[in-house]
Amino acid sequence: MNVRAGVAGVSDFVLDLLFPRKCIGCGAEGDFLCPSCRKSMPKAGPAAQDRALLTSLDGLQSVFLYQGLARHAVHYLKYGNTKALAKPLARLMADHLESNPMPADILTVVPMHSKRLRKRGYNQAELLARELSRLVQLPLTGESLIRLRDTPSQVSTMTARDRRRNVEGAFRCRGHVFHGKEVLLIDDVCTTGATLNACAAALKGAGARAVRGLTFSREY
Ligand SMILES: [Zn+2]
Repeated sequence: MNVRAGVAGVSDFVLDLLFPRKCIGCGAEGDFLCPSCRKSMPKAGPAAQDRALLTSLDGLQSVFLYQGLARHAVHYLKYGNTKALAKPLARLMADHLESNPMPADILTVVPMHSKRLRKRGYNQAELLARELSRLVQLPLTGESLIRLRDTPSQVSTMTARDRRRNVEGAFRCRGHVFHGKEVLLIDDVCTTGATLNACAAALKGAGARAVRGLTFSREY
């Protein structure tokens, strides 16, 4: 647990003075990810996508494999309450997009159920999307895609088909913001793509022209 985590309501600037940033990989002072640890993170490369499962997605990319330091970074962002880590992680996603472009008019994010959101206090995927939105200069709408059901966690023992059933119909869009748009859907981890696909189905139902997913990491 990071010593900064317990301090609420204090700006990053003040926190940096009190507790200098340390690399989550090697502990070197300066930033949350030092250049050499950043380079050591396992790049995901193209994945074989299950077209039978990912019926509503027009594309799916992940930056890293959910292993080693990339996995550690997601855990830190999710459970360590180190929100400032979203900045360097989103920067890595933006760099990836620069060399692997995906057309998009608008960003959105895989939503958490309101109950879970209240418990954790923030949606780590939204933190990433907010920073990414700034970096790639695309608008983010974080509240127009909602999670209706608090689905059980996608555990690794479930089959891909079970996972799809688990999240089917779990999402809905409000308003018309996605109508006619190419949407880039952001999440921190992709397990099978079933959750992203269920979100994409809801977005298409709301008139989205295309939906592509970009996740910081993927498990397979
Ligand atoms: Zn390091």
